[in-house]
Amino acid sequence: MHIRLDGKTALVTASTGGIGLAIAKGLAATGAQVVINGRSEASVAKAKAELLAAAPSASVVAVVADLSNAEGVQQLIDSLPHIDILVNNAGIYGVRDFFETDDACWDEYWQTNVMSGVRLSRALAPAMQARGWGRVVFIASESARNIPADMVHYGVSKTAQLALSRGLAKRLAGSGVTVNSVLPGPTLSDGLAQMLEEERVRTGKDIEALAADFVMAHRPTSLIQRAATVDEVANMVVYICSTLASATSGAALRVDGGVVDDIL
Ligand code: NAD
Repeated sequence: MHIRLDGKTALVTASTGGIGLAIAKGLAATGAQVVINGRSEASVAKAKAELLAAAPSASVVAVVADLSNAEGVQQLIDSLPHIDILVNNAGIYGVRDFFETDDACWDEYWQTNVMSGVRLSRALAPAMQARGWGRVVFIASESARNIPADMVHYGVSKTAQLALSRGLAKRLAGSGVTVNSVLPGPTLSDGLAQMLEEERVRTGKDIEALAADFVMAHRPTSLIQRAATVDEVANMVVYICSTLASATSGAALRVDGGVVDDIL
């Protein structure tokens, strides 16, 4: 299978690190022009340099915008070239007990994890539809189906993304624009590494081993029994963004290492 996306432009939100940066690198390697996004000049400049080091001939546009509110999303929309591929990767997560989760926290998760994707899809999908080709991808989570008791707010936001993705796929039926969600399981991104940093310093263990311990402690149904790499998740996303994936729309695609104990 040979994936080329020359002539296409892809926006990957929140792509200065973690899964988003890996997706941006994967798409850049296919020849697509890539728009990356982060919240500071320094972080987008660093990510752009990293991307160009991996793919020197890549065309990369960097936009600073905070996607946790409507103004920030509009700022991003206003700076964009035409977009063929939208990857809604922006998402925050963290452990918090349900009884300690106030309205402000619920709202922050809703705005960042759900509304950023609503706003960007609403702004960008009509032009894809008019051109007869496009890809919209939501980076959800296995937590959408496997709601974590210690992150109910996060699980709810991720389940909402699945509904959004399926609904939008129906709305765009027959248009040549596919809409799908990808469900990573525990993935050794910058965010997960940060969560494990204190333990790394305390135990002296390497980060991959700590991530595997984390997976077995918190997601014991994992079949790969380790965290996925960001590249393993990005590979699925690059495929679903490609012209080869033209018969897949409205799907929820798992890259969860088998964590969700189900045959579908
Ligand atoms: P990460 O924390 O490693 O990286 C996220 C990036 O997003 C960072 O560069 C950060 O600066 C940026 N960002 C955060 N808030 C932003 C905002 N408001 N506006 C713009 N940029 C912002 O995250 P990750 O682990 O790579 O997660 C990416 C996506 O994958 C999220 O939607 C997350 O829910 C999902 N996911 C992650 C895992 C995992 O184990 N890492 C598992 C399942 C799903």
